[in-house]
Amino acid sequence: MVRKIKQIISLLLIMLLSVSLFSCSYFKKAQEATSLDEAENVETKTYINNYGSEAENDEAVTNDQSSELTEDESVDTEEAQQQVSTGKLAGRKICVDPGHGTFTQSVKEPIAPGSTETKAAFVTGTSGSYQTEAEFNLKVGMLLKEMLEAEGAEVFMTRTGAVAELSNVGRAQLGNDNNCDCAVRIHADASSDSSVYGLSMLVPGSGGYITDYDLISESRDLGIYVLESVIDKTGAYNRGIINRNDLTGFNWSTIPSILIECGFMTNPQDDAMLADPDYQVLIAEGITQGLINYFNK
Ligand SMILES: [Zn+2]
Repeated sequence: MVRKIKQIISLLLIMLLSVSLFSCSYFKKAQEATSLDEAENVETKTYINNYGSEAENDEAVTNDQSSELTEDESVDTEEAQQQVSTGKLAGRKICVDPGHGTFTQSVKEPIAPGSTETKAAFVTGTSGSYQTEAEFNLKVGMLLKEMLEAEGAEVFMTRTGAVAELSNVGRAQLGNDNNCDCAVRIHADASSDSSVYGLSMLVPGSGGYITDYDLISESRDLGIYVLESVIDKTGAYNRGIINRNDLTGFNWSTIPSILIECGFMTNPQDDAMLADPDYQVLIAEGITQGLINYFNK
C-alpha cells in the first residue's frame, strides 16, 4: 500500500515536473516570440517611422508649400471670382482713357472715319502750378482702374505711364476693339480767364459725324449719371453737359463714351483741389458710382 502511494506521488511529481518544464519552455518560446515581435515591431516601426516621417516630412513640406500656394491661389481666385460674380460692375468691360501724355510724333489723323478733316493725333494738355494735366489725368485714371476692378469690371487703359502710345483714334479703337461697354476719358480744363472754374461733362453731340442716334443717346445718359455722381462726391461747381462734335475720340468711338473735365487748372482754387490726392480719390469714386448707376438704371 505504501509502495502504491509512493508510485502515485512519484507519478504526480513527474507530471508536475513535466508540466512545469513544458510551461517554462512555452513561456520562454512565448517570450522569444514576444521579443521577436517587439523587435520586428520596433524595426517595422523604425522603418515606417523613417520612411513614413520622411515621406510625411516631404509631404508636409509639399503640403505646406501646396497649402501656401493653394491658399494664395484660392484667396486670389476666390477674391477674383467674388469680384467677378458679386461686384456691381461684374462682367462689364470699361475703357479708361487718361488724356494726353508725352509723345514725339507730330502727325494728324482724320477727325472721324472717312473724314478728310484732320486734327493732331497727339495733343499736349494744359498745366497747373502743381502738375501737368497729363499727370493729373493718369493719377485719376489709375485710381479709377483700381476701383472699377474692385467692382468686378475688366478695365482697358489707353495708357498706364507718362508716355502716350496711342493716338486719339487709337484710344477710341482700344475701347471698340475690346468690345467695351463704354469709354471714360479723363481730362482737366483750361481757360484764358482764371476766374472760370467748375466741372463739366463732354458728350458726343448730334448733327455731326456720328449718325448712330442710339449711341449719342447712350453716351448722353452715361454722361448725366457720371456727372451727377461726381458732383455729389466732390461738391464741385456743376458746369453741366456739353455736346461736342469736334472730338476725334468721340467720332471714332462705336461704344458710349464721355469725357470728364474735372476742373480748371487755370483757376487757383480748382488747381489746388485737383492736386489734392483725397480730391482725386473723390473724383474716381464719383465716376465709379456713376458707372454703377448707369449700368443699373
Ligand atoms: Zn485735356
